[in-house]
Amino acid sequence: MPASSTEVIEAALQSAYRHKPVDTAPSFSYKKNQLEERLVASSKQVLLNHVEYDRVGTQQSLVLCSLKTKYVNLTANDTTTTSTSPSGSMAHAHHKPSAGAREDQLDEPRVVLWPRDKVTLGWRKTFPPGAGMVNLGNTCYMNSSLQALFHIPAMANWLMEDLSSHTQRCEINSSNASFCSVCAMMRTFRSTLDRSNTVIKPSLIQHKLKSIGKTLMYGRQEDAHEFIKLLLDHMEKSYLAFRRATKLDHRSKETTPLNQIFGGYIRQQEQ
Ligand SMILES: [Zn+2]
Repeated sequence: MPASSTEVIEAALQSAYRHKPVDTAPSFSYKKNQLEERLVASSKQVLLNHVEYDRVGTQQSLVLCSLKTKYVNLTANDTTTTSTSPSGSMAHAHHKPSAGAREDQLDEPRVVLWPRDKVTLGWRKTFPPGAGMVNLGNTCYMNSSLQALFHIPAMANWLMEDLSSHTQRCEINSSNASFCSVCAMMRTFRSTLDRSNTVIKPSLIQHKLKSIGKTLMYGRQEDAHEFIKLLLDHMEKSYLAFRRATKLDHRSKETTPLNQIFGGYIRQQEQ
């Protein structure tokens, strides 16, 4: 609503409250017409103004710009470069430290399981509003955590994009019958997007609470933050098992989608 219209409404409301609380019908009708005329006049002013628009960047670049205000990059001009690919996806290039480069840079992982440039921060496509979740007995902490995770664009994009390839291959590899929380999350996410479902039971996750975290108890209230931490840890382990990468070195293990989306390092510097 134009600011000028807001002023007109505000003035009319103030005038109405200052005067008699109950108006007679003819007077009210007159004031209503007067208000409408003033609103039309104020709207005209706005509509006749010349409005100029600035071209905005992609959602990806806008999100990155807003994030950049929240941290200070201590090594902005050193061995790490950041660029935006033509598709709008984030591309970070970490170069191996050369002779003379700073020693505090992380080593390049020997194996990259899921490259960081596959992370898409904004919504890749429009999703329908997700289904609600039934409370299966004090599971509000779990339902709200799942809904929060499913509404993180980078997470949702990964779950949807890898859904068929992961679940099909994982079924083949699941001879040891261990629980794969990545499959469970992908299937639960897909069922929330099924238009025929207005509400779902997140049973695939709820039935495996004990596998996700030994401390989690059925039917008991739990801490949502603790649950998310345990779930993401379990998903990371499931992904490593799925890729048969449990024997990799530490740095390479940190290249799962979970690490690329949620991971990071904090470095403190004392001066
Ligand atoms: Zn799986």
